[in-house]
Amino acid sequence: MRKPVIGANWKMNRGTPKEALEMIQDFKSNIKKTTSVDIIIFPPYTVLNTIFNTVKKTQIKVGAQNMYFEEKGAFTGEISPIFLKNIGCEYVILGHSERRDIFQETDEIINKKLKKALFISLNPIVCIGEHLEKREAGKTKEIILNQFMNTFKDLTKEEIRKTIIAYEPIWAIGTGKTATPEQAEEIHHYIRELLENNYDRDTAQSVRIQYGGSIKPNNAEDLFRKENIDGGLVGGASLQAESLFEIVKAAQATLK
Ligand code: PEP
Repeated sequence: MRKPVIGANWKMNRGTPKEALEMIQDFKSNIKKTTSVDIIIFPPYTVLNTIFNTVKKTQIKVGAQNMYFEEKGAFTGEISPIFLKNIGCEYVILGHSERRDIFQETDEIINKKLKKALFISLNPIVCIGEHLEKREAGKTKEIILNQFMNTFKDLTKEEIRKTIIAYEPIWAIGTGKTATPEQAEEIHHYIRELLENNYDRDTAQSVRIQYGGSIKPNNAEDLFRKENIDGGLVGGASLQAESLFEIVKAAQATLK
């Protein structure tokens, strides 16, 4: 049984302590009793500490939206994974499509970051997904296969088991256009097949694969009910306490 995981990717929003606290205190009071869902907030770096101190004694975890693959040195503007660990981050998002498209991050760079995160025991969520033109050209699986082989290159069985994969069709991110549960499940199933072919059945069954792309309270449960979808990475709807809470409840409902 894989535990569903909900990631709240705030992107470049709620970056002041006031804005961050407004949301997280509300959300925290909703999550009163322990749920069987892993919940991770990915706020901007400027409020990582604020969020960490607020959720410290709860089941809510904190993660960073990115990191560099070196630990320290002359890398102006980059963030060290060690610094992140030291302020309480347990997770990191790697290879988000906004990093790939806007900041030209390649599979090779993401692979280096992934190996470093695993090396220092920072739990990675790695995003893969296709652009609309590729889907329309019938090339979704080809894109996923390439990203899978290059991003996870040389990862051991133990390492891939510690990795969460987020399937995020790029045409669904921030567009309000969600993949149907069937469209998402088809690719999640395919990713699990790739895991089985490249590792083994046991490993494939243990890796969590989240869906991401315009998840909202009204579509979350149908997505999470699919066999190979283990929760979601949520952008827009994670900025409000109530909608994030509803999405956590949807994941919880699929456990029965
Ligand atoms: C994301 O940024 O990972 C994401 C899925 O965003 P949204 O939910 O807004 O589509």
